Amino acid sequence: MTIVANKPEPIIFELGSKGREGAALPDCDVPTTKLPNHLIRDELNLPEVAEVDVVRHFTRLSQKNYCVDLGIYPLGSCTMKYNPKINEVAVNIPGFARIHPYQNHDTAQGALQMLYELQKMLGEISGLPGVTLQPAAGAQGELTGVLVIRAYHLARGDTKRKKVLVPDSAHGTNPATSSMSGYTVVPVKSDARGNIDLAELKKIADKETVCLMLTNPNTLGLFEENVQEACKVIHDVGALVYGDGANLNAIVGIARPGDLGFDVMHTNLHKTFSVPHGGGGPGAGPVMVRKDLAQFLPGPIAVKRGNKYAMEMPKKTIGRVKSFFGNFLALVRAYTYIRSYGKEHLREIAENAVINANYLLARLKGTYYAPFANRACKHEFVLDGTPFKTKYGVNTLDIAKRIQDYGFYPPTIYFPLIVPECLMIEPTETQSKESLDEFADALLKIAQEAETDAQLLHDAPHDAPVTRLDEVRAAREPVLCYRD
Ligand SMILES: *Cc1c(COP(=O)(O)O)cnc(C)c1O
Repeated sequence: MTIVANKPEPIIFELGSKGREGAALPDCDVPTTKLPNHLIRDELNLPEVAEVDVVRHFTRLSQKNYCVDLGIYPLGSCTMKYNPKINEVAVNIPGFARIHPYQNHDTAQGALQMLYELQKMLGEISGLPGVTLQPAAGAQGELTGVLVIRAYHLARGDTKRKKVLVPDSAHGTNPATSSMSGYTVVPVKSDARGNIDLAELKKIADKETVCLMLTNPNTLGLFEENVQEACKVIHDVGALVYGDGANLNAIVGIARPGDLGFDVMHTNLHKTFSVPHGGGGPGAGPVMVRKDLAQFLPGPIAVKRGNKYAMEMPKKTIGRVKSFFGNFLALVRAYTYIRSYGKEHLREIAENAVINANYLLARLKGTYYAPFANRACKHEFVLDGTPFKTKYGVNTLDIAKRIQDYGFYPPTIYFPLIVPECLMIEPTETQSKESLDEFADALLKIAQEAETDAQLLHDAPHDAPVTRLDEVRAAREPVLCYRD
């Protein structure tokens, strides 16, 4: 693949030519009706382009980007695994691709059966049998989960609780969803081994605690050694434990969060279950709960009545969180993925993800400072670039940018916040030993460069379509129109 950096780009909006067409609509097969005047415009100012113009436009854009189909995408905590193409075959089956949410359910029994079976499978994988497939992402799953926990407390007449406990290694969505639910966030420290600090947890947990939000393995890539005890501390004060399931890839098929003491959790189907992830595209964050909490879940939920499938709202539902049946085709992909492994082989996902991460860690830890390398990691691990900063004036951003010059996507950086100059690396199970070695070789080479030619790193990336962006400004003042 070649990327020509500074060549002026044709802009699709200027490529059009009057009367040029890219598609022919079929003859109308429904009665026509006149649109109300306020919906009709004379000028739309859209380009009139041929199919080939559109294909070239999007292909050009795609080549400026990096994707899981090109190589390792070690973005820690995001589980950027390969998305098997069999999933795309499944979503193109007309019975999935061409149905309508308003059609009579008698004519869509196969689709409802898929939803029902996916609920069952996620219930079994998590050890939490109540399942809603509604939420569109992990963050929305968290919000849903906390609102379900809120409904549980209120239904018991317990109205005094207002604190959600969140470890200091947590993803930003945990405090965000807690405060959106109207609660106060109380941070809990991590201890020297990277676990939640139990002594501190015992001090903080009380009758005002709504829940603890715990990520296991946590964002340092470490299995919470005190998970069962932490859950007990929380249950003893009448609160519940929410599991941020973003890191399920490390334990899927091996340990069930429900058995460990979690009451509610979400899973990101676009992480663990191979649904394409990124570009803000449709994902899914189903929520699983223990049996007595299922009555509060958002619906509709697929149920089986006799030999018929139907969609129903739970008795005391918190209401809808998403239109219709969630991101349906994301659900079909996850279903296909789970079925393609089968019950017996699902654990191989976690086993290989963990082996790959430990292999990379072993190759890198002599050269990079690995703060928790006295323990085996799970599916990801963190490195701390502080020694490069103090010795050579090279920071983690420089290293991450230089990785692009070697043709790889960089890891997550500066997260979790408790590791300064953090590089957080998650290879996933879908990398071969060769591709892990190529990536490790590049990082080892970069460590040498930091010592011998720091400027090379400061100036990186050297041949990317864009180099160092003002990320804050890009987020605050996005330029979304191609002309002024
Ligand atoms: C990805 C992630 C989330 C948020 O999930 P989205 O699907 O991106 O909304 C929450 N917590 C952790 C630890 C994550 O890695």
